[in-house]
Amino acid sequence: MEKDVNPEFGKDAFNCPLCGAYAKQQWSGADGYDMMTSAHGHKVMPTGRIADLAFSRCERCKRNAVWTTSKRIMVYPDKPARTFDTTEVPKEHASDYDEACAVIHLSPKASAALQPKMLAGYTSGARVLRKNTK
Ligand SMILES: [Zn+2]
Repeated sequence: MEKDVNPEFGKDAFNCPLCGAYAKQQWSGADGYDMMTSAHGHKVMPTGRIADLAFSRCERCKRNAVWTTSKRIMVYPDKPARTFDTTEVPKEHASDYDEACAVIHLSPKASAALQPKMLAGYTSGARVLRKNTK
């Protein structure tokens, strides 16, 4: 049975953001090299460690996700590192909820800004429900 584990910085295994499979992840830092010399057939010249970048390499598809080490967030692929259960969200609020989830990894404040609108929708829906049940 496939697991459903959201990607998280430093975690040994999770569902790969590129292929979707639950897989072990190999973590590494980023080393730079001089692209101009190597492009012209010269020896690859290292330029040193690139601060604040890390890679998680999926054991299954062998592709890399890119992370920042300071914020511990995934920057590639550009999609939420987490998936959210939307099955219990009423259809009329689903698009706001999806939008809040889509930006939560980039800006938790922007994601939270959508909550009053959803909350207003929930409370007006609850009032209607309460009126109809009296
Ligand atoms: Zn993968």
